[in-house]
Amino acid sequence: MAGSPRVGVLALQGDVREHVALLVGLGAEAVLVRRPEELAAVDGLVIPGGESSVIDKLSRAFGMQEPIRAAISAELPVYGTCAGLILLADEMRDGIGGQQSFGGMDIAVRRNAFGRQTESFEMSLDVPMLGEPPVHATFIRAPIVERAGDAVEVLATLPDGGIVAVREGPLLGTSFHPEVDGETRFHQVFLESVREYTSGR
Ligand code: GLN
Repeated sequence: MAGSPRVGVLALQGDVREHVALLVGLGAEAVLVRRPEELAAVDGLVIPGGESSVIDKLSRAFGMQEPIRAAISAELPVYGTCAGLILLADEMRDGIGGQQSFGGMDIAVRRNAFGRQTESFEMSLDVPMLGEPPVHATFIRAPIVERAGDAVEVLATLPDGGIVAVREGPLLGTSFHPEVDGETRFHQVFLESVREYTSGR
């Protein structure tokens, strides 16, 4: 049936409001997800930027880790920005002791990959899938994808070859934060996956 896709933003910690505003601006119905029953009611999930170790801890405390893993296995479209990308990685490097990810993408991601000197920076980034204009990308204590499996599409790389945007089936991840720059095209790609997912049911 036509209508707004109903998507969730994981609202345990991080820049939840920016994602909600952007998704609503694109015509989606955006709801906050903190509990398993809220997750069960959405057709896509955004995992925001923030602090991946905190989102990990809270997701376990709220009984959300297993439901999110199950939803990913059931091919729910998920878009992770920054900390969200870390949480989608099968392999995490430089996590704090005991830190876990949800996994789902066949990638290895290093947290805080730019070190203390370069905590934050902005740059113009070519993303061939999105065409022109280039993306104005804001990196904040950002991760880098250090390994991407064969099934993973690399969507964007830095001039030094570092991978900063990836897609694997219905899973999308960026090291940077389109939601803070009003860059809507990644969320549009995510919403296309959501529409495909709902039409296939
Ligand atoms: N460094 C953070 C982490 O490890 C990610 C930062 C961000 O989401 N902007 O989770």
